[in-house]
Amino acid sequence: MPSTSGGIEGGSVNHSGDDVSIQNKNELSDRKMEARRDDMLENRSQFATKSRHHTTRKKTKRRKLLISLNVSATKYEIVRKVAHEFGNLSDLDEDPSCFLFWNDTAVPNERVAELKPYQRVNHFPAMGEICRKDCLARNLAKMMKVHPHEYNFSPKTWVFPAEYSAFQCYVRELKRKNKKQTFIVKPSNGSMGQGISLFRNGERIQQQDHTIVQEYLDRPFLLEGYKFDLRIYVLVTSCDPLRVFLFNDGLVRLSTQKYAAPSDGNVEQLYMHLTNYSINKRSENFQRDEDVTKGSKRSIQFFNDYLRKNDYDVAAIWKSIADVINKTLIVSEPHVLHAYRMCRPGTAGNDSVCFEILGFDIFLDKSLKPWLLEINRAPSFGTDEKIDLDIKGALLHDAFRLINMKPSDRRKGMAAQKAESRRRLFRPSKRLDLDLTDIDRRKIVVDRRKEELKQKLISIRRDNAREDFENRNMGRYQRIFPPPDKSSQDRYRKLISDAFNIFLAGRAASLQKEIAKLLNGSLREDEIIDMLQACDIEDDGKQKLFKGPKPLSSMPSVVDEIPECDSRASSPISTSPHNSVTDFKTRLTASQSQSQLNKAKNPIPKRPQSAQKLTTSSRPHSARLTSAYQRTVNRKNQPYQLSASDGNLNEISTSAFDREEEMMRKTLMALNDMRIKFPGKTDEEADIILNQIQEHWKYHKPRIASYWLVKLDSIKRRKVIDIVRSNVRSVLQKMCRCPDIESLKLWRIFYRLFNRLLWSHGQGLWNCFSSNTSCSWDTIFHKNKDSISGVEFMCCERVIELCRQCLLIVYQFAAEAKLSMPSGETNSPTKQLSSSQLSNSRTSPWLPSSPHKAMTPVSQRMSRLYLNKSLDNLAS
Ligand code: ADP
Repeated sequence: MPSTSGGIEGGSVNHSGDDVSIQNKNELSDRKMEARRDDMLENRSQFATKSRHHTTRKKTKRRKLLISLNVSATKYEIVRKVAHEFGNLSDLDEDPSCFLFWNDTAVPNERVAELKPYQRVNHFPAMGEICRKDCLARNLAKMMKVHPHEYNFSPKTWVFPAEYSAFQCYVRELKRKNKKQTFIVKPSNGSMGQGISLFRNGERIQQQDHTIVQEYLDRPFLLEGYKFDLRIYVLVTSCDPLRVFLFNDGLVRLSTQKYAAPSDGNVEQLYMHLTNYSINKRSENFQRDEDVTKGSKRSIQFFNDYLRKNDYDVAAIWKSIADVINKTLIVSEPHVLHAYRMCRPGTAGNDSVCFEILGFDIFLDKSLKPWLLEINRAPSFGTDEKIDLDIKGALLHDAFRLINMKPSDRRKGMAAQKAESRRRLFRPSKRLDLDLTDIDRRKIVVDRRKEELKQKLISIRRDNAREDFENRNMGRYQRIFPPPDKSSQDRYRKLISDAFNIFLAGRAASLQKEIAKLLNGSLREDEIIDMLQACDIEDDGKQKLFKGPKPLSSMPSVVDEIPECDSRASSPISTSPHNSVTDFKTRLTASQSQSQLNKAKNPIPKRPQSAQKLTTSSRPHSARLTSAYQRTVNRKNQPYQLSASDGNLNEISTSAFDREEEMMRKTLMALNDMRIKFPGKTDEEADIILNQIQEHWKYHKPRIASYWLVKLDSIKRRKVIDIVRSNVRSVLQKMCRCPDIESLKLWRIFYRLFNRLLWSHGQGLWNCFSSNTSCSWDTIFHKNKDSISGVEFMCCERVIELCRQCLLIVYQFAAEAKLSMPSGETNSPTKQLSSSQLSNSRTSPWLPSSPHKAMTPVSQRMSRLYLNKSLDNLAS
């Protein structure tokens, strides 16, 4: 495609026709033509942009029309307003097919049970376990017994009447030690500061039902002399598994009378000791202000600025607040998950039908330690002031985006339900088992295992896709659970495990077992794929023994000879046509060492070195990727730029960069030096093949698309990507000189990248061949533009290029393999070639020119598919 921008820029110079160098009319008319053409191109590109915007707008509108939301059970106007941005409001309670039901109060479990998979409700069952003051106190106390140092963020509490005597003992002990302590008494299920009173002398507190008594925290962090608490908004999108988001703004609610330590004279002054808006708004000192930095209600953003200005460590404070929130939700998790599973049995792994916006009330003491006061499951969405409107509107909007309601969910949900019932219907009956032979019975076991693993794989991929979506749509939320760092993950895993043991002791045995299994080591995607391969091997082995070879389905096949270098040559795996791609992958390392041996005897012609590769590439390189890089580099403050001197990166003084940057640059070099080897061909031949495919792209495009997107199943697609992934992994391991690269930022970036490539059944990689920027892989970084540096981006570009090349080579390899089969058995991409094309292609340098070469055993050629740079040399 011609570059429109270049043309437009070129055309604009001569538009006026003033150019003195124009000598004759012909030249003038040429230029005019050129300018007109550029104008046309510009108009066309403007039209394309306009129509793209128009289509997006139309899509959003259509999507909105197809979603109906029931907000009849809310009194808050802001909820209605935001909901209306996402769909049609349906106030009819009778409409059972709504996508969302919003309730100001908790909903009964039956309602949750009745929901269809595509529907959502804004409450979880059993969340009351942390949202009622007495339940919260009881549950936290249980966890505190096991983890006293982790659960020390709640003031000491007694639940009356059960713990009245324990409280009396405590008060007597205080008296004996001559210690003074103020207590605060609250109704167990109260809110808005109603029924709260303070006592200087605990002995005077009467035994009452449905009450809690708490130690009063008498050293608050003060703001301009006033006590305050923080209303923090937390969105829980799922309990199975737990997913929690923290909104980056909220309310700072100040009391209206300057604070003084509690004394007999001031304990009754609620405007001094309570920070509730509902109490303080009655005070004559209450200040309403349009400005979020003044008044009795301020924003958390203002508070952060205030802390920053006064040299407090804001990040550390928010880290500890997020920790308090996570630990509290870990306490609720066994209750909520159990109740949720009871309501919705058999839906594990599906999208959650429940979500909840919780209001955490956090108190900061003098040392800025956060204390949990209470959690509101129905935080007020009242918008008395502008600050409420701004903050609550934004947090609702972002929450609606994150819960991701799509019109297609309804259809997909129905299809999934049908599939599930069909699966149940056709499950082999146990009674039939009696008639089966041992072989068949073993086959059934393997099939079940495979089915189980496939389900796990699907759920892992769904989780990855969900995470990807969340990353792009979090808005002002930040994911705090699961946490990003490994040490927190390990710590929380332990706490969750203990919470399940404590709260579900003797109950829900199967759930307990499942959680324990999950926590003890959830399988990674690649591990599951390996296990599936093992099942395949078992299957194929049996089939070899009992049923003869399995017919070819999609990957290169026909194994006449077993390569000598392969130690597993005699195993049925290497002869299985279904493991061709596995062989690509598993033989990479072996073939690398083999290649080194070969090199000594028979040196392979040298490929361009990294330095040359950085500036020019003989392999097809999409212009779009370059411009994508340009876009990213442009938005960086200090972009990494390659200069002419970068030609020899080894000469760059190491002292000029910090270690990480150097490692990154070395990784980039190593990646640039990597080559995908075509079995049985030299690197030059491989290059020619790739260039030929590029040249005849029109012809190959539909064939490659059908090969990649239709013929290969998801496992084989993954195996192709894994050829690159496993080698990139080895490079990184060498570079950072440690086998555990999971925590490495670059690996995490690559991890997202590989997932992106496999996105939507391999559509991700296929999109990388397209010139359409809107489906570019780099959109995964759009939300968080600063998360990737220039070098990291270049590494990603190189990885994408390797993946593209790998696909092309595997495709071509498959085509050649089919060509080398006896006629009649072929069903390859090249089968459809017309006879003239076929004769052309046979004489072309990238298809076997002699029958002898065509008949080279495929497995032997495959075994030489490797990335030809020796990894051992890379870390030097
Ligand atoms: P409600 O649900 O009625 O608002 P809270 O537990 O939130 O009850 O308490 C109301 C207010 O009382 C809080 O906003 C806070 O200012 C104050 N408060 C509550 N508990 C304590 C405590 N243990 N120490 C100090 N102040 C407290």
